[in-house]
Amino acid sequence: MAKKNVPYDEKYYDDVETWPREKLEELQLERLRDELVWSYENSPYYKRAWDEAGVDPHITSLKDLEKFPFIDKQTERDCQGIGSFFGELCCVPEDDVVYMATSSGSTGVPTMSPFSQHDFDEFMRAEARLFWQTGMRPNDRYLHGMNFALYVGGPCVIGAQELGALGIWVGAVPSDRLLWAMKHYQPTHFWSSPSYAWLLGQKALEKGYGPKVDFANLRTIIISGEPGGSIETTRKAIEDIWDASVYDFFGLSDIYGACAGMCEHKDGLHIIEDQILVEIIDPVTGEVLPDGEKGEIVYTTLTKRSRPMIRFRSGDIGWVNRNKCECGRTMTRIYISGRKDEMFIVSAVNVFPSDIEYIVRQDKGLSGEYRIRAYDENHTTKYEVSVERVFDSDEPFDQIASRVENALKTHTGVRPARVLVYDTDKLGASGEHKVKRFIDERTSTAEAKEVMHEAEEHAAHKK
Ligand SMILES: [Zn+2]
Repeated sequence: MAKKNVPYDEKYYDDVETWPREKLEELQLERLRDELVWSYENSPYYKRAWDEAGVDPHITSLKDLEKFPFIDKQTERDCQGIGSFFGELCCVPEDDVVYMATSSGSTGVPTMSPFSQHDFDEFMRAEARLFWQTGMRPNDRYLHGMNFALYVGGPCVIGAQELGALGIWVGAVPSDRLLWAMKHYQPTHFWSSPSYAWLLGQKALEKGYGPKVDFANLRTIIISGEPGGSIETTRKAIEDIWDASVYDFFGLSDIYGACAGMCEHKDGLHIIEDQILVEIIDPVTGEVLPDGEKGEIVYTTLTKRSRPMIRFRSGDIGWVNRNKCECGRTMTRIYISGRKDEMFIVSAVNVFPSDIEYIVRQDKGLSGEYRIRAYDENHTTKYEVSVERVFDSDEPFDQIASRVENALKTHTGVRPARVLVYDTDKLGASGEHKVKRFIDERTSTAEAKEVMHEAEEHAAHKK
């Protein structure tokens, strides 16, 4: 697609970013109606499901969407390969599909996510806009450290090229090679997971690099793939190592590599709202919740033609703010607390691993690495946290443990069963990309999920 020449000093990449709410919603309604009619006419799954639910795709208000049934990962899996390679959710013949990503498969069989040329162009336009929002311009050098192997974050580098920046396709290479590339190519922007951005900083120091001197051009680090990017203390820890500004991005293999990203005010992530609608629902009843309330995030694509996602339950818990941002954008901001599966309830308080990370990353006496174990004892859920004492500290372990326990009690509302303290590098954070920090040993989880699933089914049938 043709490159869009936006002047360097223009703050916004697209006019739509600052449209008044009413004008934006008119566009959303028009696009949503087209998307629903298209899906009904071309996807055997949507036709069947909507006929059963008795809903008409020719909607007259955005609120009409609430009558439509949900889909989720399981729907994708069930439809995949049925009738055609991409299956019953897909609305175009395979000949029209030019790209596919897959999910990581961490929660079951990987699902394929097809893109037509139109979808791919829209995807890159969305990425370009989010990159522009972080301050990237055509005179910037963007080093893309994302995996290219079937991963939807891979092609996002083309979005940087789309706005005119230099795309440096490094990919997920060993840290030595990545640091070499950073030193020699002096990028201004870099994107990785929060764990990796932090770990790479540590490796750089170990290898004798001074990140603030040797990578002096680097001014922006984009992070995604883990909740850490939305935790202020984690961003701050990464900013301190690199002397760069950290922006959180959020994406889904089912939709785009990045669907939402931070602006300079870093208060939530602006979603590409002219292409993706967002709803917050009660995870048990499926009812739509008012803005500002916490619940499960549901996405609906507005312009995706190969595989439209209509009311896709993401499994993420969060909330939205639809007020205009200080940056001038009217695009809704989303805030994500974590995965529904990872939330644990201790003494009637909902705790997310991200709440614990917040505390661990702000304590200057700790390395920042941690593990959380949730388990059941006498039919009660408890949690313990393992942390590492910062390198070259001789502070007594029990003193650290009691400080962290108190901080966790204050921040989350519930005291951990224990805090275990180790020396630096003892928790084994050698993983280069996503690190598994949450160990779920709750015996009640399987049962609880079953109950929740039944409640969801019930709510879905009621609609
Ligand atoms: Zn903003």
